[in-house]
Amino acid sequence: MDPEFFDAGQPCAVLTTQPLDRALDYLAPEGGCWLGAYVEVPLGPRRVMGVVWGPAAGDYDRAKLRAIHRVLDVPPMREELRTFIIKAADYTLTPLPAMLRLATRAPGLTDPPATRRILRLGQGEPDRMTDARQRVLEVMHEYGGLAFTQRELADMAGVTTSVIKGLVKQGALTEEDAPKDLPFPHLDPAHKGKDLTEDQAAAASSLAKGINSGLYGTTLLKGVTGSGKTEVYLEAVAACLRQGRQALVLLPEIALTSEFLTRLEARFGGRPAEWHSGVTMTDRRRTWKMVAEGGAQVVVGARSALFLPFRDLGLIVVDEEHDTSYKQEDGVLYNARDMAVLRASLCSARVVLASATPSLESWANAEARKYERLNLTSRFGASVMPEMRAIDMRAETLAASTWISPTLRKAVEERMALGQQSLLFLNRRGYAPVTICRACGHQVACPHCDARMVEHRFLKRLMCHQCGETIPMPEACPSCHVEGKLAPVGPGVERLAEEAAKVFPEARIAVLSSDLFGSARALKEEIKRIADGAADIVIGTQMVAKGHNFPLLTLVGVIDADLGLQGSDLRAAERTFQLMRQVAGRAGRTELKGLALLQTFQPEHPVLRAILSGDEEGFWQAEAAERQAAGVPPYGRMVGIIVSSEELNDAFDVANQLTRHSEVLREAGAQVYGPAPAPIARIRGRHRVRLLVKSPKGVFLQKVIALWVRNVRVRNTTRLTIDIDPQNFL
Ligand code: ADP
Ligand code: ZN
Repeated sequence: MDPEFFDAGQPCAVLTTQPLDRALDYLAPEGGCWLGAYVEVPLGPRRVMGVVWGPAAGDYDRAKLRAIHRVLDVPPMREELRTFIIKAADYTLTPLPAMLRLATRAPGLTDPPATRRILRLGQGEPDRMTDARQRVLEVMHEYGGLAFTQRELADMAGVTTSVIKGLVKQGALTEEDAPKDLPFPHLDPAHKGKDLTEDQAAAASSLAKGINSGLYGTTLLKGVTGSGKTEVYLEAVAACLRQGRQALVLLPEIALTSEFLTRLEARFGGRPAEWHSGVTMTDRRRTWKMVAEGGAQVVVGARSALFLPFRDLGLIVVDEEHDTSYKQEDGVLYNARDMAVLRASLCSARVVLASATPSLESWANAEARKYERLNLTSRFGASVMPEMRAIDMRAETLAASTWISPTLRKAVEERMALGQQSLLFLNRRGYAPVTICRACGHQVACPHCDARMVEHRFLKRLMCHQCGETIPMPEACPSCHVEGKLAPVGPGVERLAEEAAKVFPEARIAVLSSDLFGSARALKEEIKRIADGAADIVIGTQMVAKGHNFPLLTLVGVIDADLGLQGSDLRAAERTFQLMRQVAGRAGRTELKGLALLQTFQPEHPVLRAILSGDEEGFWQAEAAERQAAGVPPYGRMVGIIVSSEELNDAFDVANQLTRHSEVLREAGAQVYGPAPAPIARIRGRHRVRLLVKSPKGVFLQKVIALWVRNVRVRNTTRLTIDIDPQNFL
């Protein structure tokens, strides 16, 4: 067995976050170090961070070994997390140091422990009691004994900091220096649960039973939007807390976290830790440390929270598990849903995958009994799923460059007359997806990408949705230089809003699109305003499909239900099905009955028919049969290879080498397709060439692929990206 502790001067291997292909040997520092210790080591002239990874390899001259500079003041990485990092790296064919970097992304981890000024209740009495002072003292009593910073206390009491300074002066509050990174408030599983319906209670108790078993297991929690999935998995969190273990809840969208945190706080009487890109550096470090020390019972976060150093992780909830944002498409390519299952299996935790429209992968795993499945079939309370109908656009008369059909228009007017809200859904940001020159036919394209520029009239700019490049809206055509002939083609939400303003001159219209808000807070405020009834018509992109609750919303009009069905993506049908059902689910979330109208030119399309009939199981069965016949995921395996380079020839050169040397793949039963220019053939000035590897399910593809790509010489200017289980094929 590997040693657990290295005495001072004893050699040990340290894995650093630097791009090296192996762990390096060092000597344990004074006082020794534990296996898994987070350390700083000298590397050349620098000091870098690493983790004590195991016994020394011993193949380096011992006399030349350098000593670990210092052991960081955090608990050592547990074996479970080390194994997770290794397995995740193996699965995604990611170098170990890059994987370790994901697990050490806490700013200031190497800083010395610091202190900050905090406030506690003092012995003194204020000379005169004011409302503001009263509120401050109430907060202090309410949180009995807890310490606050001045800012926190001022915010909680809703007073200015001068009120607090006054109380300090009079001794009613005392100031002291305290270490930073305090534990998070205690969460009480008994605080305030809702009375669950029979269905919900049965699902909750089944999840609790799983948690109490202390063994790994994954459950697919399927229930229509509004059926109480969240209420049910909060009871799983409660069961986990009762076991004294930690829980992680992954959400697909940061914009949803604050609403969710409030809900969690109401349930458990305290705010959990947060982990996502919108959290401050200080809070990130606090969360990281408290998770490791056990001072955070629940973390709500984005996919990278999976790499946090939990002391005893007992439950991972993946909410909206079908959401494509769980796949990281940059840097380390991993699917957080799958990695959640991996991590849970290594630490005897449970996984709850919650969705109204599960991914076919999870559905199939439940069918195969690898996952348990729980169903919530009806909406909570009086609300029912909306009625769904198609609007056959072939039978509607629309003026050129308009998108709201007479039928949809009438339905919206009816809602307005009743004081109810309508949502017009169009999954396209900006004003118009294409800008064309009516003089020469040129379409304005991004200079760096194989993508057309999208007009954003609100910003008065053209924008590339691939690389983010923007240019001012030109007066003249960039190609023929004729002025005043550039015209928008097709609709984006901004253009739809313009049309809606003409068609419904009386209506108050709100546009919800991620690019229109400077901050998450501004967006949140707008969502709240809408929920309170400040708009008659909401115009939104994909963003509105997720989680938000608009009680007055009773009509959803999908402007282009055919949009997602085009294209060759193997998941096009599945995605359209999910998105349409999710969007429709926004309507009628209270006792008001909802209606969803889908504008389509092909109402007879099987996917649209399945959406309209609501025959979910039928849809999945048909989709599963098709994928099975084609031998594609989840019934076969796929790996995407993208070769990119500034020179198209260099990219093709590497890709061709790969196909020439693909015997190792064929011997293993896998096939390789391509090379071909990627559908988006150039991004940020780099040409992109794709290969696709397909194999039956049983093949251990990662090993074969690693052998395969090793044989190919890749020049520095060329990049080879391996995407295991690709979600997009662009
Ligand atoms: P889902 O996550 O399936 O969309 P939610 O858990 O958000 O559903 O529930 C929808 C709404 O119904 C929420 O406002 C929730 O608080 C409420 N709700 C669900 N179940 C109950 C219950 N048993 N008691 C009270 N309110 C409930
Ligand atoms: Zn671009």
